[in-house]
Amino acid sequence: MENSPAVRIVYDFPVAGHLCTDGAVRYIKMARRAGLTQPQGVCPTCQIIFQYQKPQRSKVRHFGENGATHF
Ligand SMILES: [Zn+2]
Repeated sequence: MENSPAVRIVYDFPVAGHLCTDGAVRYIKMARRAGLTQPQGVCPTCQIIFQYQKPQRSKVRHFGENGATHF
């Protein structure tokens, strides 16, 4: 068994559902902490760290039609 915590990226907020190690579905509430840009939550049972990420980044604007074909 590994002791290093696993980080799972989720796109649901403020709670992330997952199938826990004991077979139950748990919903972890994530919160934004100081020093962190993304909200995180830790499951007390399986120790998985859930990190929220926005589904799509729209920083890239349309400059012509170069290289924006990642769909
Ligand atoms: Zn869990």
